[in-house]
Amino acid sequence: EELAPLGREMDRAAAQRWEAAPIVGGQARRRGTPTEIVDPADRRRVVGEAHWAGPDDVDAALARATRAHPDWARTPVEARAAALERAADELEQRFGEFMGLTVREGGKTVPDAVAEVREAIDFLRYYAVDARRKFAEPIRMPGPTGERNELYLHGRGVFATISPWNQLLALFTGPASAALAAGNCVVAKPAEQTPLMAAAMTRVLHRAGIPEDVFHVLPGDGPSVGEPLLKDPRVAGVAFTGGVDTAKRINRVLAERDGPIIPFIAETGGLNAMIMDSTALPEQAVMDIVQSAFMSAGQRCSALRVLFVQDDIGDRVTRMLTGAMDELRLGDPGELRTDIGPVISPDAKEMLDGHARAMERNAKLLRRAPLDGAGEHGNFVAPAAFEIEGMNALQGEVFGPMLHVVRYDKRRLDEVIDAINATGYGLTHGIHTRIDNTVDYVADRVKAGNTYVNRNMVGSVVGVQPFGGEGLSGTGPKAGGPHYLYRFATERTLTID
Ligand code: NAD
Repeated sequence: EELAPLGREMDRAAAQRWEAAPIVGGQARRRGTPTEIVDPADRRRVVGEAHWAGPDDVDAALARATRAHPDWARTPVEARAAALERAADELEQRFGEFMGLTVREGGKTVPDAVAEVREAIDFLRYYAVDARRKFAEPIRMPGPTGERNELYLHGRGVFATISPWNQLLALFTGPASAALAAGNCVVAKPAEQTPLMAAAMTRVLHRAGIPEDVFHVLPGDGPSVGEPLLKDPRVAGVAFTGGVDTAKRINRVLAERDGPIIPFIAETGGLNAMIMDSTALPEQAVMDIVQSAFMSAGQRCSALRVLFVQDDIGDRVTRMLTGAMDELRLGDPGELRTDIGPVISPDAKEMLDGHARAMERNAKLLRRAPLDGAGEHGNFVAPAAFEIEGMNALQGEVFGPMLHVVRYDKRRLDEVIDAINATGYGLTHGIHTRIDNTVDYVADRVKAGNTYVNRNMVGSVVGVQPFGGEGLSGTGPKAGGPHYLYRFATERTLTID
């Protein structure tokens, strides 16, 4: 009963036609015929329509943001933080509506949608509080001759934030709110798959008191909007979340552009592994494996891709795992009984089904979960598990509900660790064991930003579990952690005799 109003708000959000357009200086700049954005669970359902940004929108947004920056950087941090907190309040008040849009545009299940809206709110509040802590007062450092030294943090200028579709609200909002809290103006380029949420969130930020010239949104794809934006010398920093190939491409664009040398924060994918030994509690471990690999249809950067299971328990664990997969219910993500919704697009579905076909040819298929119940008009991919010989069977991140299982001999744990590190990624890692020494041994050696022991590998809590990887998985600093804001600020000292 308590949840009924939330359900009604979700239904209202689903019934609504949402709109995205470049929003520059608070004005929606519509032009031409918009593109229909359809529900990934049923492509016949139109969620809204999007007008894409063009070169003049990029220029106008940068011109306004550049002009607005000096005033915004001088705005007391208290006022910047309070605006972010008001934005969090509005999300809280419209929780069900934003869940509804998360479900319809992003194809996420109801529990995923709760986590999505929650995480966006947590980012807004955490960076507001942390900015007050770091920006309100300079650090005073007494000099040897009685001089005064003061160290100030200052917004850098205009930050470009480039975000992915898989956390359409949280990762649009998180980096942008950090940049704003630190005294930057922002030009945000959301993923082309999820422009509607970005436009809705932009309105929330403006209503909350982020000035219209301080925050702009430019829907569009990488080549036509992202690159022209990043090539512009008025951009003073980039916060990117997405695939590693895109991050490398952006690195090249930044290296070749005119203008200042700027920070590039990249949070990218992973080829995340879990090691499960024979002392693990099998029921718990298998539940955690299924959640880590298949929830959100595997479309999480932190998701489990490769399970290393000690060979003595290999048969038992595979039996339990395939049994659990048979119970997974695919279907409309708006229904509470659904475990797994669609993948984001027909292209993603084709790529994943192609991966499954190749694996069926070259590896041992353990199970493809049944597709029954999933509508024929949605981008549904049957979760699959394969047994492979080793990491070499995989080229890189497979962003969907595909789990790969490798059996290992406990005398060869070092080889497992080496194989995991040899991928070059370093995002999440899981360990299921009851031996403390094994935890210490593995955690000391596996390169991973976030290691999870005897639990699942999904869902990080802002301010409690700072999140982010190393190597191919990202540059750091960790999102939702105590060092994140520093990367968005420049340090200035004042030395006074
Ligand atoms: P993607 O790299 O295809 O796109 C990400 C963003 O970059 C989009 O907005 C896209 O339009 C833009 N883009 C693409 N080409 C560009 C270019 N040349 N110049 C500028 N911008 C460009 O990634 P995706 O498919 O949207 O997201 C999924 C990926 O994101 C996965 O690899 C996942 O692991 C990763 N991810 C990482 C984290 C993390 O915290 N580490 C979190 C979520 C997702």
